Amino acid sequence: MHHFHYAGSNLQCENVDLAEIARLYGTPTYVYSAATMADNYNRLASGLKGLDLQICYAMKANSSLAILRHFANLGAGFDLVSGGEVRRVLAAGGDIKRSVFAGVGKTEAEIELALKNDIFAFHVESEPEIARINHVAGKLGVKAPIAIRINPDVDAHTHAKITTGKSDNKFGIPLAHAAAAYEAAARFPHIQIKGAQMHIGSQLTSLAPFVEAVKKVAPFVTDLKAKYGITYWSIGGGIGIIYKDALASGSPEWWSAQPADTRPLTPEAYGEALTPLLAPLGLKIVLEPGRYMVGNAGVLLSRVEYLKRGKGKNFLIVDAAMNDLVRPAMYDSFHEIVPLHRDTERPALVADVVGPVCESGDCFAKDRPLQSVGEGEYIAFMSAGAYGYTMSSRYNTRNMAAEVLVQGGASDLINARETFEQQIQNEKLPAFLTK
Ligand SMILES: *Cc1c(COP(=O)(O)O)cnc(C)c1O
Repeated sequence: MHHFHYAGSNLQCENVDLAEIARLYGTPTYVYSAATMADNYNRLASGLKGLDLQICYAMKANSSLAILRHFANLGAGFDLVSGGEVRRVLAAGGDIKRSVFAGVGKTEAEIELALKNDIFAFHVESEPEIARINHVAGKLGVKAPIAIRINPDVDAHTHAKITTGKSDNKFGIPLAHAAAAYEAAARFPHIQIKGAQMHIGSQLTSLAPFVEAVKKVAPFVTDLKAKYGITYWSIGGGIGIIYKDALASGSPEWWSAQPADTRPLTPEAYGEALTPLLAPLGLKIVLEPGRYMVGNAGVLLSRVEYLKRGKGKNFLIVDAAMNDLVRPAMYDSFHEIVPLHRDTERPALVADVVGPVCESGDCFAKDRPLQSVGEGEYIAFMSAGAYGYTMSSRYNTRNMAAEVLVQGGASDLINARETFEQQIQNEKLPAFLTK
């Protein structure tokens, strides 16, 4: 469920007209719904009620300061993957003490920064990393809390670039070697064994892999509790969202019309399946949802530049490009495209929707049936709240897009569009080229 819907013929985010936002701030612009994020957070928390639960929002999905603050206000901690993300949480007023630090390549400086801010735990990905964390903790005269990331070798049935829980991924330590890794960790004087962690992949649309992974790893986690007194288990993130029927899935009617056996994953079903498996462990349970928290809460607004009619092929050329939203180019992912002004009288149009970047890969959709739209009109890419802005770049010397947050009838610019001057501010012409 989400808060994007047509009011008459105009697409709104909560009570705000999106065309108004496009006119006010220009395009391409990301727009996020605060109510949708709050609903997502609260539904997940109540889906697993009864557990000692800590939701650590995986901020790499969307790390704008205002969004971090919104989740911090809701009670979330954060799943961090870099020193920069630690600093973003601090800048937003979030709590590092309730946050976990993941990633395969933590540097000494990043470990030190996290320790100085009382990180809840490091999620360790390899044995050499344990030695490094021990070394940094020793220097600071503290004990570093850790959990080892266990790779359960479960197939998440998702895109190859976002599956992480198979044994041939770079992530974690295989279940068969995890006991030895914990024994090794226990011998370091500046390491405190605090928990266990896993994360099997992203955009999972069925429950089965989550259930399989929890069942597979739970006995080992029970052993860890007996042996080392661990106090928590993070079961990762990965809950998928709706891309195909994104707009329709905003309404409860759409959900109740889905047949039970093919109904997309809901936080209620996730909680119902996992709570009984997790409750008997008597541990704090950490979740690390990223995409689920923000994906359906954001859209990317874009303006139509040209409709180029070709032989048997139409191209709708818009002002957003792969640098703004790379998911279609990188993961072949589908984003629903809807007009901000809906007009059912108009003829249909089948077109490739493309950006202006000089790459054939700069294509959002192939042969997509759309309402016909013309130059100067606006469209929205749905389900763009996760891995949208955070994965964007300046390719083709395009400025980073603007971001706007909506709550009820209020909206505010939370990240101004980058200027050309900002884009080149760190560059210089060396003297040996200019004399
Ligand atoms: C990326 C990531 C997540 C979040 O994944 P989503 O699919 O966005 O929920 C959680 N945990 C770890 C360790 C990650 O790398």
